[in-house]
Amino acid sequence: MAVALPSFFTAIMIMSRLMAFIGISKNNDMSSKLQALDIAPKLSYDPSAIESASQDFGHIVKAAPQAVLLPSSPRDIASLINFSYSNSVPFSIAARGNSHSVNGQAMAKNGVVIDMTSMKNGNGTGISIASDGSYADVGGQQLWIDVLNATLGLGLTPVSWTDYLYLTVGGTLSNAGISGQTFRYGPQISNVYEIDVITGTADFVTCSPNNNSDLFYAALGGLGQFGIITRARIPLEPAPKRVKWVRMLYTDFSDFTRDQELLISKNGRNDNKALNYLEGSLLLDQGSLDNWRSSFFPPQDQPKIISLITKFRIVYCLEIVKHYDGQTKTTVDKDLQQLLKGLSYLPGFMFEKDAKYEEFLNRVHSEELKLKAKGLWDVPHPWLNLFIPKSKISDFNDGVFKSIVLQRNITTGPVLVYPMNRKKWDDRMSAVIPDEEIFYTVGLLQSSGFDDWRTFEDQNKEILQFCEKAGIKVKQYLPHYTTKVGWVNHFGSKWSTFQKRKLQFDPKLLLSPGQRIFNNNQ
Ligand code: FAD
Repeated sequence: MAVALPSFFTAIMIMSRLMAFIGISKNNDMSSKLQALDIAPKLSYDPSAIESASQDFGHIVKAAPQAVLLPSSPRDIASLINFSYSNSVPFSIAARGNSHSVNGQAMAKNGVVIDMTSMKNGNGTGISIASDGSYADVGGQQLWIDVLNATLGLGLTPVSWTDYLYLTVGGTLSNAGISGQTFRYGPQISNVYEIDVITGTADFVTCSPNNNSDLFYAALGGLGQFGIITRARIPLEPAPKRVKWVRMLYTDFSDFTRDQELLISKNGRNDNKALNYLEGSLLLDQGSLDNWRSSFFPPQDQPKIISLITKFRIVYCLEIVKHYDGQTKTTVDKDLQQLLKGLSYLPGFMFEKDAKYEEFLNRVHSEELKLKAKGLWDVPHPWLNLFIPKSKISDFNDGVFKSIVLQRNITTGPVLVYPMNRKKWDDRMSAVIPDEEIFYTVGLLQSSGFDDWRTFEDQNKEILQFCEKAGIKVKQYLPHYTTKVGWVNHFGSKWSTFQKRKLQFDPKLLLSPGQRIFNNNQ
């Protein structure tokens, strides 16, 4: 197609603004057309359904759709997209996984939100495990906790996780899906054999690295822009029974990162001697030792940890896990000792736990229940998640943790800091990461009150401004930009491919408008 991309997108943007405008006056017209569709009984206009589709875990952004689709099969989703695509006034459509985005990414103002979880037990979209146990076919709407439970039942498990498992497969694959396993196994998007996608032209496409690979690479990390993932084929491995779970404390940032980098250098997927998980976090003066990431430190050790934090204001906590089962039970401690030999953590500040594999993986949920009981879970979450090149992580520590965070003294939520290896990612996918071989993820996972989240957003802005001034080329994870320039800079050399793929798979810009990539204000 001989259309210059920028002018095509400008034309489409003008059209979609016009459509949004016309859409408002034609709402009734659209609703009556929708009611003539075969999926009409599955469209909800119920105020409570609209209200919940207007919010997310962030509790900062609000945008109401006209209707919510409660599909029972991928065919219902295709029907809706097809209707919008062929309509003279197309409307936007957003898949809503478990709505754990924090900036409205799964919302569709004046459009239709697809409540993916209503397909939980739908036709062909459950969780089915291959007879040889090598993979699971999983509906895009499935929660990772359900994938874990289903596979563990057969002694199997996926290998790459997120910290929290009440997220959908389609939702995390649209971002990347990272956790302490990423350094060794890659993000979740590196652990997918095949996906089914319903594109913005309502085509149902099965894709993999060998088949419709453009769509495969586009959709993984694609922020919901190219299609709705209705199935993913996830590789499985034999599940371990238990884990050795260790935390070590540091007051010196360079010791902390040197040890992290040393540990992730042993990263062969089949290297049984390597760690299975590595993360890190900050322990801050005003933060609780046992925030929602897990209760861990033994009560008798807490006074000495607290006095360490009081003295140094920031303590760095390295966290690792080694799996074991009946066969490796007698060797796991020795293997762990070998791995930890020569590390520079503070003597007397190593803490160890022995836990069931699933207890470890589902660690955030028990804390979620405690916070929910106190009314502290469904509150605003002004989060900032970044990827930082290794060469600048020390500057980041000085300028952000030791300056901005300590000066402002408002951060109470978990602050994660851990490295990963670029070679475990696939650059053909839409996800964006820094150029260096090792990069860090930093997550400021803050909770706030309903009236003070702006103070945290200001801190986030200050952090981003500092990085820009200091020449720290960060990339946002779970990115949030409101301007075209922001997105173009974010995607960098991937922007033109991202645009071309959008034109190919969602030319009417129907999908995931809440990301504000092709429908921003500037
Ligand atoms: P939603 O928020 O519902 O959707 C996210 C985006 O994907 C939207 O644009 C939506 O339209 C689109 N989408 C949803 N489903 C589909 C689909 N089937 N096909 C195509 N597009 C779709 N992330 C990590 O990587 N690692 C973590 O450890 C981690 N921990 C978290 C802990 C908590 C407590 C929370 C709230 C979030 C965490 N996240 C983590 C972030 C999380 O992965 C993302 O916010 C993810 O998008 C949420 O999944 P969801 O299913 O709720 O998706």
